[in-house]
Amino acid sequence: MIKRNTGFTNLTAGYLFPEVARRRREYAEKNPQAKIISLGIGNTTEPLPKFIAKAMADYSMGLSTKEGYSGYGDEQGNSVLRAKIAETWYKGLAKPEEVFISDGAKCDIARIQTLFGSKVKVAVQDPAYPVYVDGSVIVGAAGKNNGNGYKGVTYMPCTPENDFFPDLSKVKKNSLIYFCSPNNPTGACATKAQLKTLVDFANKNDCIIIYDAAYREFIRDESLPKTIFEIEGSRTCSIEINSFSKPAGFTGVRLGWSIIPMELKFADGTSVNRDWNRVMTTLFNGASNVVQAGGIACLEPEGLKAMKEVIDYYLVNGKAIAEVLQGENFKKANVEIYYTGNSPYVWAKFPGMKSWEVFDKILKEANVVTTPGSGFGPSGESFIRFSSFGHQEDVKEACQRLSKLVF
Ligand SMILES: *Cc1c(COP(=O)(O)O)cnc(C)c1O
Repeated sequence: MIKRNTGFTNLTAGYLFPEVARRRREYAEKNPQAKIISLGIGNTTEPLPKFIAKAMADYSMGLSTKEGYSGYGDEQGNSVLRAKIAETWYKGLAKPEEVFISDGAKCDIARIQTLFGSKVKVAVQDPAYPVYVDGSVIVGAAGKNNGNGYKGVTYMPCTPENDFFPDLSKVKKNSLIYFCSPNNPTGACATKAQLKTLVDFANKNDCIIIYDAAYREFIRDESLPKTIFEIEGSRTCSIEINSFSKPAGFTGVRLGWSIIPMELKFADGTSVNRDWNRVMTTLFNGASNVVQAGGIACLEPEGLKAMKEVIDYYLVNGKAIAEVLQGENFKKANVEIYYTGNSPYVWAKFPGMKSWEVFDKILKEANVVTTPGSGFGPSGESFIRFSSFGHQEDVKEACQRLSKLVF
């Protein structure tokens, strides 16, 4: 028989979220009366703004007419959408031909690994969104897990002690550096000065930054950068990946984009943008035209306003969760709360406890599902991620239950 891809052999344990789901299911089967509320997986819950949904419905109906029908579009994306993204979200910091439309950020992160192959060195923030490392293992850019992480991956701890900004000195030359800001899971949002440090390091050490800005629309502090391209020098060392999933509730609809500046080059001087164009035209066949019509609507003034309102709604939840976690019962257990107000996540440290232990306790005693920090990397141990995606009435109820927990 055909040999199994060693990348899969090297992957350890399950993916984090299936394990969270398994424990939830097991608990629910044993306790059918429990009304479980999830502050766990980062999945959006609020309905699509009507204006945006209508644009997709209208486009879809148009497809049933001779005039409105279209088949394959440009693999790089609808040119109107590419131009609108460059203009609205990058204000000229990216050109339309540097914007590639996709079916989502996770899919782009996976495809981008084909650009660099199995020999590339990888550095990740620790903790991090799992696909950076797991995807690298699947393509062979990372090896076996020796218990302290995968071979070939440089883990850059991001902890309260370093203000969640990593020490870059351990990153090897010619590395791909995955960097997510606002961060999932910690909620930390890098300042311009911090990103300048990152960009300068990358340029000096021939590294490429894969900048995941999926939560940029949650940034409320005007002084914080919303894209890596606000940073001087970024165009020779950065790729940005982004998505409509979180700002527009497109987690199920599926639409994202990547930006690859023309100035970004491989060691042999060839253009990264040109190879990415090749990847997108060869391995991908363009995002859904219906969905791209929705993306265009998102970037109309009415769509932008509607997206902001939904994010504001989630930010109210985040604030409520952060407040309840600062209550007396948590203080007594010396629980440390990290909440920036610029992301949907509240990150909490439970000193002396393991993440899964805290997860199980909160599930059993409050019937609330969270996400164990250790699932995002070794430095996430003892932490719990609380997500603010949820209906406000459910989050309120979850907060009430949390306020009664004793640690
Ligand atoms: C949710 C999320 C994404 C979005 O992924 P899609 O595939 O576009 O839904 C990307 N990066 C991070 C860190 C996320 O949390």
